[in-house]
Amino acid sequence: MTEKETNEFREMLLKRKEEIEKTISDKQQEISSLTETDASDEADFATISTDSEMGHTINTRLRNELQEIEYALFKISNHTYGICEMCEEPIGIARLKVKPQARYCIVCREIVEKS
Ligand SMILES: [Zn+2]
Repeated sequence: MTEKETNEFREMLLKRKEEIEKTISDKQQEISSLTETDASDEADFATISTDSEMGHTINTRLRNELQEIEYALFKISNHTYGICEMCEEPIGIARLKVKPQARYCIVCREIVEKS
């Protein structure tokens, strides 16, 4: 991978990281404003708990992605970015363009998913 390509992926990862952080903080505000509202009957309570559960699921998914992105950024600074963690072969530019935080090449990814 050339330095130019690495820089492009770094930009992509940083942009995605920013988006996720914004979504998480937006969600948190939404949830806290919901839970602060006085629920007068059971129907309101049900709505609130469903909403915060949904928010929680989204948050977990986003936080996982955020960790993957941070790890990818760490690998860029470590000069190990774009290398499969299983077979140590290059992951491939095309795959990284779809998922810049990918840790495995397509072959190893399948093995990891099956196990
Ligand atoms: Zn591999």
